Amino acid sequence: MNRRDALKTTFLGSAVVAAGVWLGKPLAHAAGLFHDDSKALGRLAKPASFWRGKVSDKAWAVLFEENTERPGSSPLNDNKAAGTYVCAACYQPIFKSADKFNSGTGWPSFFDVLPASIGTKEDRSLFMLRTEYHCSRCGGHQGHVFEDGPAPTGLRYCNNGLALKFIDAGSALPTLRG
Ligand SMILES: [Zn+2]
Repeated sequence: MNRRDALKTTFLGSAVVAAGVWLGKPLAHAAGLFHDDSKALGRLAKPASFWRGKVSDKAWAVLFEENTERPGSSPLNDNKAAGTYVCAACYQPIFKSADKFNSGTGWPSFFDVLPASIGTKEDRSLFMLRTEYHCSRCGGHQGHVFEDGPAPTGLRYCNNGLALKFIDAGSALPTLRG
């Protein structure tokens, strides 16, 4: 390769990189609307496969494929005990029992979430615009949040019971994993 070709290659390379930088952001954003990218959203940045076997297959499908459990199927629906609800994958605390309420939807529901425990993204699946939320640590999908909850927040965090693990107030919180 002579100097001129080398320059040309460098120039082309830069142009490709520049285009990638320019296109990268909106493309990634658009992809986020149609593609399940929850795996990459957590601070741990572990691939979904990392959590295989650490949770049940059903829980894994909810957490890392954004599956939704059948309404009324979670034993946590009627749980009124005092304690903390942690992410079933990485054990990060997400809800406290004092913020749980009976929404009548068939899914464990909360009107508030522990600080910095979740991230959110737009979910345009099923021809609806909903706000998906996931564990901020491992990225595991938890549920959707709606603005028809009770006071004081007016929010309803509609959660999959399979994505949570309940820790009774009398027990120590589990060590975070991942
Ligand atoms: Zn987690």
